[in-house]
Amino acid sequence: MCWISSLAATLLTLLTLPGCAAQPGVDYTVRLDRARNQIIRIEATVTNPGEKAEFLLPTWRPGRYGILDFAANVRIWDAVDQSGEPLPVQKIRKNAWVVDSTGAESVTFGYDIFANDLGFRTRHADDSHVFLNGSSVFVLNPPTRDEPHLVRFDGLGEDWKIASGMPSGSEKNTLLAASYDVLVDSPIEIGTHRSIAFEVDGTPYEITIWGECAADDNELIEDFTKIIEACIDIFDSVHFDRYVFLIHSADGIGGGTEHLNSTIMQTRPSSFESESAYRGFLSLVAHEFFHTWNVKNFRPAGITPYDYDKENYTTSLWIAEGCTSYYDDLLLARTGQRSVENYLSSLRGSIGSVLGNPGRNFMSVEQASYDAWLKAWGPSSPDHRNTTVSIYTHGAMVTFGLDMLIRRESSGERSFDDVMRLMNERFPLESGGYTPEEFQMAVSEVAGVDVSDFFARHIAGKEPIPFADLIRTVGLTLERRSDEPEPYAGLTLRDSGGKTTVSRVIDDSPAFQAGLILDDEIVSANGKSVDSGSWNEIVSDAEPGDVIRVGMFRRSEFREVELTVAGVVPERYEIEYMDEPTDQQKASYETWMGQTWPGE
Ligand SMILES: [Zn+2]
Repeated sequence: MCWISSLAATLLTLLTLPGCAAQPGVDYTVRLDRARNQIIRIEATVTNPGEKAEFLLPTWRPGRYGILDFAANVRIWDAVDQSGEPLPVQKIRKNAWVVDSTGAESVTFGYDIFANDLGFRTRHADDSHVFLNGSSVFVLNPPTRDEPHLVRFDGLGEDWKIASGMPSGSEKNTLLAASYDVLVDSPIEIGTHRSIAFEVDGTPYEITIWGECAADDNELIEDFTKIIEACIDIFDSVHFDRYVFLIHSADGIGGGTEHLNSTIMQTRPSSFESESAYRGFLSLVAHEFFHTWNVKNFRPAGITPYDYDKENYTTSLWIAEGCTSYYDDLLLARTGQRSVENYLSSLRGSIGSVLGNPGRNFMSVEQASYDAWLKAWGPSSPDHRNTTVSIYTHGAMVTFGLDMLIRRESSGERSFDDVMRLMNERFPLESGGYTPEEFQMAVSEVAGVDVSDFFARHIAGKEPIPFADLIRTVGLTLERRSDEPEPYAGLTLRDSGGKTTVSRVIDDSPAFQAGLILDDEIVSANGKSVDSGSWNEIVSDAEPGDVIRVGMFRRSEFREVELTVAGVVPERYEIEYMDEPTDQQKASYETWMGQTWPGE
């Protein structure tokens, strides 16, 4: 049974039966008495478990497609029956346990988990708060996955309150999820956080902030409302009853994760103090909120349902992340929260980084989606910088290309906004997700032409997108900034611990030809000592064809190699307004940017 359609019925049953006769699938007690020591105890109770009760902790969390192995932070575990008598428990995989429950009316599997991971947005506890992302802390009992799950909190600090997209249960300090999938897609913040409530079109929203935030309530409400309205403008529907923006503000953290009807966003306190940093934060807000439709409602079939034990594969993550990244900046231009000049400057930067990325010769954006588990969120390798494309930046620029194509082919009548709206209507969460073919069909349908050639060349294939041609649709031109070759070595150095070492060698570059490799310790250039700063100066002062004698240690052996500086034209672009655009181009610009053509 699909959990969304069963949500109302199950909640009603559970909440209205006298004495709460209906049992939740799993009844969790979360003990916070050692939260200040970063230890959380969880007891998961299953009633009528049968002969054996299995419990597994996910290996990854929704929104981050990489294995994180949360079970590594489970410190100790045990199991008891309804009378508190111990039951045998056996670990059967790295992340799964089986309790021998023969004869027991109920089984309680208890475990301590270490909670000190803030940056991956999984679980963090100290004397100021507790943050729990469900998949990193709550075990799944597979047979009860689709049943309601109840969470009770015990040992809250004085004045602590609970914030989550999940509704409260009937008792104090409880939350009730319609299923395990809802539980793990509804992060929980507990503490004395600042809380701001407001409404947009009758739907309640809440902002909660842990940490310092200099912005006042009205400023945040006004800015968040503009973003909410811009998203609703595109999708024309709201599929949630309530939405919660959870914010962590602390030095050294950043980024966000989308969830069903909430998001957890992390930023630095300084984000609320400078205009450009605040704009970056609002981009994050727009990104995460747009995801509420793109990926939290319409979702690639390959990641539906989530397999909490192992990887879910899809070639469509570029749609989930790239389309969303395209809109996060564009929405702010449409709302006026960033200037058009600022938007176009970031667009040309993205185009330059996509076209200048050597990884595009190795990998299509579809392949990048499939391999995200290995290359985007998997074990980090310095080679990835040369051989991968980003489902975010590259995916966003593919989306930009498709948006221009649709606007051109439909004479400005339709746009990528219509693709997003159509996908949301056609593939609601309970539909089981869309295939890459169904997405391509939706784009063709909106464009009114067959787009299979674009998909074959630029999405499944690695051909560069013809940005200069496509951007003319909205009355703009794109040109490479300079034709002059600049000196180029293809070598990046890093200074650390008093040593200067090679951190990147670009394939086929002068450094590659000279045989330099990662971690070589560079000590001299043309007989003089060198660090990363002086190396860059030596290269930029050179002429193409000049030879630099590079002295270096590989392990403990000294050697000198010759590097011949090349000349390359950098991938930097200018975007200009056309002098004599047609009315069609001006109209397309205005619907795209949500702003009038300059001077009109
Ligand atoms: Zn995202």
